[in-house]
Formats: sequence, structure tokens, C-alpha cells
Amino acid sequence: MKAARHHQHGGPDVLVYEDIPEPKIRPDQILVRVRACALNHLDLFVRAGIPGIKIPMPHILGSDIAGEVVQAGELCERVQPGWRVALSPGLSCRQCDQCVSGNDNLCRRYALFGYAVDGGNAELVAAPEYSAIRIPDDFTFEEAAAAPLVFLTAWHMLMARARLQPGEDVLVLSASSGVGSAAIQIAKMFQCRVIATAGGDAKLAKARELGADHAIDHYRQNISAEVRRITEKRGVDVVFEHVGVATWQRSLESLAPAGRLVTCGATTGYDAGIDLRFLFSKQWSLLGSFMGTMGELRQVLQFVFRRQLKPVIDRVYPLAEIRAAHERLEKKEQFGKVIVTP
Ligand SMILES: [Zn+2]
Repeated sequence: MKAARHHQHGGPDVLVYEDIPEPKIRPDQILVRVRACALNHLDLFVRAGIPGIKIPMPHILGSDIAGEVVQAGELCERVQPGWRVALSPGLSCRQCDQCVSGNDNLCRRYALFGYAVDGGNAELVAAPEYSAIRIPDDFTFEEAAAAPLVFLTAWHMLMARARLQPGEDVLVLSASSGVGSAAIQIAKMFQCRVIATAGGDAKLAKARELGADHAIDHYRQNISAEVRRITEKRGVDVVFEHVGVATWQRSLESLAPAGRLVTCGATTGYDAGIDLRFLFSKQWSLLGSFMGTMGELRQVLQFVFRRQLKPVIDRVYPLAEIRAAHERLEKKEQFGKVIVTP
């Protein structure tokens, strides 16, 4: 089969489109013919190499996978060949205390497709049966691949961690990212007032199209000054962070008293600081978030399948052009998900 792999860490040029043996499934696994796979920033980090993390080489990236089941192992009881499925990006042991309590994203053996195990940048992928979620007939594979990781991440951040309440004020950093575009829609579904940031007029317009009530240009405007102006000096109840150092200080300044900041990433750098006097006197909550549970994935995908939440697709590339897809994400040219199709 054809696959895009990297044999060493580095820039997009380490990605090689090549012929490799087809994966063999275990009795509890299914074989999926990949029809679409969405890129995430994780792909760029894993490709470049993460200090302290050893990735087995050669490695196949790709966490967000949709395709057709072509074979089910003899121990599989639910999934049938022919099903059109999306795969849960996150995998866990399903036996530890956290897993059996439903907190599978806290499993010590938590892994993702494309990270520790081979992902979906290939014509075929072997997957555990439990990871398969059936998709509606009228749903394209591209739409199905664009949804899981970002909607799961944004849902867990806003619902489980920040405990978003209807009508609250929410600041969403970087609307053009997959998680940002998901967060705007989730917050609007709960009748919140959403202030989003983006870079440049075209992306600001798209943020408004997604439902943002206000859009701030994070290159030309001071985010916290604009938030204070819009909220009449109060600040927002929830800040949705994932940008890191570049926006951290402005994000904190945007918080109302008793506000919650929830973060799932630090794409511009992780060495951020905080003046502790503000943390305690304003009674802020700083919340970390990572992926989400299998139950939450099923829950949020119901809204996606009913088209109450819409995956935003930026561009679709043939898998053979994987380098160009990585470059687009690396240069921040995208709005929404970049997808490859084998
Ligand atoms: Zn576990």
C-alpha cells in the first residue's frame, strides 16, 4: 500500500510517500481503508521531534481518520465490514482505574493514532474495534475526518473543564485553528457571547461567519484592551487558550473576576508567567485540558452528525502531496482543517 512516512525527524521534506507492506490486524482489531485524514498541529510536533519523546521509526502520522471497514478480526462483535466510520483519535488500555471510570484521557497508556502508533496517512490502518464510530450516510469522509480531535478537545475544555454556562462571555483565541473554529460553534450553541481573535480581514470575516459576535485582529489590535471595551471593563468568564506565550498575558488580562482560563496547547511557546497577586485576588481558575473521553467524543459527534456543529475544512490534498499540506499548516495559511486523501 501507499503511505506517507518519516524515517527521521525534521521539516516537511522528511516526509516520504512510499510503498510499504499492508498492516496485519489482531483478532480484536479492524482494518480500515482510509478515505480521509485530517492534519493537526500534533503532526508537525511529532514530525519535528518532541524533546524527551521517542517515536518508533519509520512512523506514519495522522490522528483524525475516516474510512471504510474492510475486515474485522475474529474477536470483533460490533463493527461490520462495509461500515463507514470515523476513528477515535485517542486510544487507551480500557482496564485501568481511570479507563473504567470513564476518564480514558487520563489513562497512563493513553496514545493517539499518529503518535506512538501508526496513523492514517496511509491507504490502510489497523484499529481497535472500540475506536470505530459509525458515520451517517450523507456525511463525507472529509467532514468525518475533520471533526473528532478538534471537537473533542474543544468540548472537553469548555464543558468538562471550564464548565461553561449558557450566556457567558467567552474569548476564543485563534478562530482559524481547528480547535478555535470548534470552540466558537460550541459556545454559540450554548447562547454565549463569543469574542474571537484571528489574523487579517479574511480570517476575521470567517470567524464572524462561524458565529463570533466580535472579532479582534490579534496582529493589529490589543486583545485585552478590545475585550475590556466590548465587555465594558468586566472581562470574559472563560478564555479558550491554545496559543501559548504569544497571547498568554493578554488572555489573563481579559479574564473577569472569578474567570476561568482553559488551555490545551502552546503552539507559540510554553514558558509563560503569571503575577500570582492577580490569580488570588481576582480568584481566577487556570485549567489544563488534554483531549477528552470516549463518551464525550460520542456526545459531541452527535451534534456534528446532526449538523448543529460543522467541521470547517480548509483544503484537501492528495496524500502524495503531504509535504505541501504540512507547509500550509506550518505557515498558518489555513482556516479550519487541512485534509489528505490516500
Ligand atoms: Zn487505562
